[in-house]
Amino acid sequence: MDAAGPPQRLIIASHNPGKVAEIEALLAPFAVEILSAASLNLPEPDETGASFAKNARLKAVAAATAAGLPALADDSGLAVTALEGRPGIYSARWAGPGKDFALAMQRVEEEMQGHSDRSAHFVSALCLAQADGTSRMFEGRIDGDLVWPPRGERGFGYDPMFLPKGHGETFGEMPPTLKHAMSHRARAFRLLVEQVFETAE
Ligand code: IMP
Repeated sequence: MDAAGPPQRLIIASHNPGKVAEIEALLAPFAVEILSAASLNLPEPDETGASFAKNARLKAVAAATAAGLPALADDSGLAVTALEGRPGIYSARWAGPGKDFALAMQRVEEEMQGHSDRSAHFVSALCLAQADGTSRMFEGRIDGDLVWPPRGERGFGYDPMFLPKGHGETFGEMPPTLKHAMSHRARAFRLLVEQVFETAE
């Protein structure tokens, strides 16, 4: 069991209300009070890290040390094998200021021209930081192949071009419950819950 034990109050270090609500729902079975970084007026640090884990840690530690409470942050994205892991930490930025993921998927497809390896994976890095600046990392990953043209209207981001291994439907086509049971984010959360919240007697 973690020396710090499961937190009783936890800041979700994200200014995205959708993400805060999703995490709140996942932690609802546990006796933990959820606070959002926005409601505490905590600043949003620039994501200057060179990896998903570094960016997640940067956000979690900044919130935890500023507020004097444990904080949880995540960072995620798509890593394409033929592109040596890009767009990676730039996954959101490839969609431009208009958050146009049709454009971002087009760019991925264009940059993959001439490569026969169409494999890719999504990564989710979750970081739980304590008020003293110490932290623990939980990472989830799902492997798949990229299809072209994109398929399906569900999900978000790069979902319509991501076909998870062993499945016939892209993340953009399959029912959200199926995606949420297998996704990189679900896997990272499962590790957090098992290693931090379910260890309490
Ligand atoms: P962030 O973790 O909120 O910074 O998101 C990073 C970016 O990665 C998102 O804007 C999406 O482009 C991409 N991404 C992360 N998770 C998923 C997913 O489950 N499906 C599709 N795209 C994703």
